[in-house]
Amino acid sequence: MSGRETKQLNVLLVEDNDTHAHVVRRYIDKATLANATLVHVERLSTALERMAKGGIDALLLDLSLPDSQITETLSRVIEAYPEMPVVILTSLNDLDFATAAVQQGAQDFLVKSELSSELLIRSILYAIERKKTQDKLEAYAAELERSNEHLRGFAHTVAHEVKSPLNVVSACLQWMQAKYAAQFDSESGELLADSAAAIRGMTELVNELLEFGSAEVGEHDFVEVDLEAVFYQAYVLLRPEMKRARATVTHDPLPVVRGNEIQIRQLLQNLIGNAIKYRREASPEIHVSSSEANGELLLSVRDNGLGISTSDLERVFDAFVRVHRSMNLPGSGIGLAFCKRVVENHNGRIWVESELGCGSTFFVALPTS
Ligand code: ADP
Repeated sequence: MSGRETKQLNVLLVEDNDTHAHVVRRYIDKATLANATLVHVERLSTALERMAKGGIDALLLDLSLPDSQITETLSRVIEAYPEMPVVILTSLNDLDFATAAVQQGAQDFLVKSELSSELLIRSILYAIERKKTQDKLEAYAAELERSNEHLRGFAHTVAHEVKSPLNVVSACLQWMQAKYAAQFDSESGELLADSAAAIRGMTELVNELLEFGSAEVGEHDFVEVDLEAVFYQAYVLLRPEMKRARATVTHDPLPVVRGNEIQIRQLLQNLIGNAIKYRREASPEIHVSSSEANGELLLSVRDNGLGISTSDLERVFDAFVRVHRSMNLPGSGIGLAFCKRVVENHNGRIWVESELGCGSTFFVALPTS
């Protein structure tokens, strides 16, 4: 008895050209890597019937069949038997279809004129293993999505639950400040003001967390968004900050993009707000520019502020990361994580270039087609 186990494989070949089928059978019969049995059918309907009986380990599939168009053969197989490993057999002329088929879910493709016994069996064995791994990964991804969904719902409920007692405490503090301010000594007055500020900060954090949690919108919510109008909305909301900081904010003409208007406004507001907040002594000069190339709209928000060190350029997009903590500026470190989520919802990219002590430019690339 040999120590090596030879794999038993039942392979279904769907091929309407007898000569090609004959070649495949010869290679399969000669194979030593596995003990393969070949069942040959000429039509897709017969193949589907045969698969229904079970016991097939892998499918060798010619896409162009008498009862199926080259463009639909694979999808019909996947629809009926999503768990079946598939290797496409193709001629050199149909390579584009074969590559598309792999993107669509086939595990591999082989060019008929380049076949060998070894290649054929290896490809079938590889397809079976690859399919198993893909199915496992898909199951993990689905599980992860379910658990993320659960977590999002949980975080949302907690944030809402925390918000109402915070509102009560905040209202009480305001009432005490209004009613008893005159009777407080300076220390008590300060304590009360600090408590009110802390509650305000916490309410803001909870609001940001709620906003972050609801940042998931699909393309079905997208509309034509006039960035010029959205910029102006953000500008108006930031005007008090701009006045305090003596900031000037200029912008290029801005186009219309498809997206979620509220989120894009929040994105701009966050980026411009940060450009004002993380300023140096000099008055902030902020410019929003816009250009289009290669099917992408590139927006950027450039400032002359504190800048970010090279080692922090990626980290700043993670939730709760704050790299200028020592400056005691208000904030929770969620803004840029929110921006990243918004941009990803829009199938775009966000990144920052910066020089510490000179300023930063945040870039947002959004697909236009
Ligand atoms: P927050 O402003 O609430 O701290 P963000 O997520 O918006 O949170 O930003 C994360 C960190 O990135 C900030 O704490 C700050 O250290 C840094 N940062 C963001 N924008 C800028 C900017 N324009 N210039 C310099 N640093 C910035």
